Amino acid sequence: MNGLDTPIRALLVEDNPGDARLIREMLRDAGGEHAAVELAHADRLALGLEELTNQVTDVVLLDLTLPDSHGFDTFTAVHAHAPDVAVVVLSGLDDETLAVRSVQEGAQDYLVKGQVDGGAILRSMRYAIERQRLEAARRDLERQRDEFFSSVSHDLRTPVAAIKAAIGVVLANMPPDMPPPLQRLLGNVDLAADELTSLIEDLLEMARLQSGRVELWRSYVDLRDVIARAGRAIEPLIGARGQHLLFSPPAEPVIASVDAERLGRVLSNLLGNAHKYGRENGTILVAVERHASEVCISVTDDGPGIPPDDQERIFERFFRVRGSGSSGTGLGLAIAQGLVELHCGRLWVESTPGRGSTFRVALPVDQ
Ligand code: ADP
Repeated sequence: MNGLDTPIRALLVEDNPGDARLIREMLRDAGGEHAAVELAHADRLALGLEELTNQVTDVVLLDLTLPDSHGFDTFTAVHAHAPDVAVVVLSGLDDETLAVRSVQEGAQDYLVKGQVDGGAILRSMRYAIERQRLEAARRDLERQRDEFFSSVSHDLRTPVAAIKAAIGVVLANMPPDMPPPLQRLLGNVDLAADELTSLIEDLLEMARLQSGRVELWRSYVDLRDVIARAGRAIEPLIGARGQHLLFSPPAEPVIASVDAERLGRVLSNLLGNAHKYGRENGTILVAVERHASEVCISVTDDGPGIPPDDQERIFERFFRVRGSGSSGTGLGLAIAQGLVELHCGRLWVESTPGRGSTFRVALPVDQ
């Protein structure tokens, strides 16, 4: 780690000798008595990558226009070669847009040449290194969390299956004179085992998606059937809250190549949320439309809607809108989005607070 008293090991990738000299001088002046930066220099991309392989480097000061690489590709090449090294892009006024894009894609900062002095470059490099370090720590924590959830879920699966099987036997052989409170208690244990099973399945599916281990089993199916099946499965719950599920399927089949089970899971989640967050005695509308190159399935509810600031965040793992009630893990939409994206499709929400939400799934279809 680089404290203020440890020199930064920086690599300047810059082909303009004048600019390179200027930056070196500015950094030397800014460093004061002690050398703040050990600066290596490469005047083309290939040499820069070689230097990154051979020398420990904290930060790269990168000009995007080099004799052997231009524009955004220059950043991509450096980032792919050394993903853990911080990059500060040096841009001219004319390629500032590219520099901004580089920051969006993982560069830590950008500086416009001619508009910065040595102090500003030094600060930017220190900040970039620190940010890179924090991001690496965050990624590591996320990885540990995923591994933890995955292994705990695996370990929980067997005992929960055993509880579920045992309670099934007890329920099937319940003596007729069993007191009703005891019957209810056993019913609750059965329901709790079901909830735990689906939570474990969600955690495992999330872990599989994160590590790219989900394989789709595609076949050509009529989406009207997939939707109808998901609707039938949730009907008892919807009925229990006095809600109505309306689905008017188109007259013509809507054929698409999908993993019917996985898409069913996506729809169950959307319908489950519409039921959970929708109004009591309200209406849930489902529609499917075929467009030129995609099919679009929508699920609309008349619930509280989602605040604009949260509309993207609800697709993040574990995110729940404040005040959403106690039942839920915040995993359903993250899994749904992961599964839709595996189909090369998109899942998004359109919502007006107070007026309900529409979740849309768009899936590409063969022309
Ligand atoms: P869960 O429902 O288990 O919390 P999800 O990932 O399915 O997890 O949803 C994430 C959050 O998005 C929910 O906690 C809720 O705050 C919000 N949300 C999802 N669907 C709806 C909906 N139809 N109406 C209002 N809020 C919703």
